[in-house]
Amino acid sequence: GSRLVPDHTFENFIEGKSNQLARAAARQVAENPGQAYNPLFIYGGVGLGKTHLMHAVANRMLESNPKARIAYVHSERFVGDMVKALQHNTINDFKRLYRGLNALMIDDIQFFAGKERSQEEFFHTFNALLEGQQQVILTCDRYPKEVNGLEERLKSRFGWGLTVAIEPPELETSVAILIRKAAQDGVQLPDEVAFFIAQRIRSNVRELEGALRRVIANSRFTGQPITMDFTKEALRDLLALHEKLVTIDNIQKTVANYFKMGIKDLLGKRRSRSITRPRQIAMALAKELTNHSLPEIGEEFGGRDHTTVLHACRKVKELRETDTRIDDDYQNLLRTLTT
Ligand code: ADP
Ligand code: MG
Repeated sequence: GSRLVPDHTFENFIEGKSNQLARAAARQVAENPGQAYNPLFIYGGVGLGKTHLMHAVANRMLESNPKARIAYVHSERFVGDMVKALQHNTINDFKRLYRGLNALMIDDIQFFAGKERSQEEFFHTFNALLEGQQQVILTCDRYPKEVNGLEERLKSRFGWGLTVAIEPPELETSVAILIRKAAQDGVQLPDEVAFFIAQRIRSNVRELEGALRRVIANSRFTGQPITMDFTKEALRDLLALHEKLVTIDNIQKTVANYFKMGIKDLLGKRRSRSITRPRQIAMALAKELTNHSLPEIGEEFGGRDHTTVLHACRKVKELRETDTRIDDDYQNLLRTLTT
């Protein structure tokens, strides 16, 4: 298998609403391998802590039983090893090796897609392990049913245990992660700086870590304290990148897609609520995420007047405060557009 990262422990994993369920499930599995949830299936986007949690389970299991036989492999590695075993006629050793484990952890199983022979082999190994009450943990970048090129019988079996999602961290979790990681580096990060970084880099934990590392390194290098101005300067290109990616065109496509409607309707003249709401939301997003002026945004939205855009922004603000579904939609779209 691959190497475990010793720092990827439960202690070092900061809990928040976005990862609470996954963390709790992993914890249960670590304490009762093979008994609690089998398989444990963790899914979510890149850089959200799936690998970290998997290693945390392995590290915890080894702590309570140093003799535990645990294999942690990336799915590409699993496929590669299997192909080699087939070529060298050692497939039986390969099978024996995997079937003799206390726990098998396969990371990023989306890479199994389309690899039929590997899925076949994995299917049998997987069944043998479950029957022997040996723990299986899998991660994937999306919900198993959404992985194309994965056999139905595997998808259905993945759901036999527990399937949990890790979401992108919400603001408070991001702030907590930044403050904790800085403290681990011996740096006391000012709250306003933590909030600023968390707010502007809304994608994933890996990127948050990268930004923080950069700020700390620059501060050490120049001997300057970490103030707001210092942080903005240190992260200038990164922040620009996060903003530049969002164009009005992109916003329109994303919103139309999200509400399952055509761009034509989004930009057109129809005024039924099912169309005007998404239209207003798209305009408000354009105001929030781009540097375009109200007249420019109006122009891009089928040649509307700037007062219409202004009205849309106010309306959306008001609706978000009174209707949680609209607020959820808005937040989802914000997240999609900025990650
Ligand atoms: P994934 O496997 O989902 O792509 P990783 O597990 O590799 O993501 O996490 C990316 C980085 O972010 C790692 O350095 C990891 O330690 C860190 N990380 C992710 N989530 C957390 C968390 N909740 N608390 C602390 N560190 C985290
Ligand atoms: Mg990973």
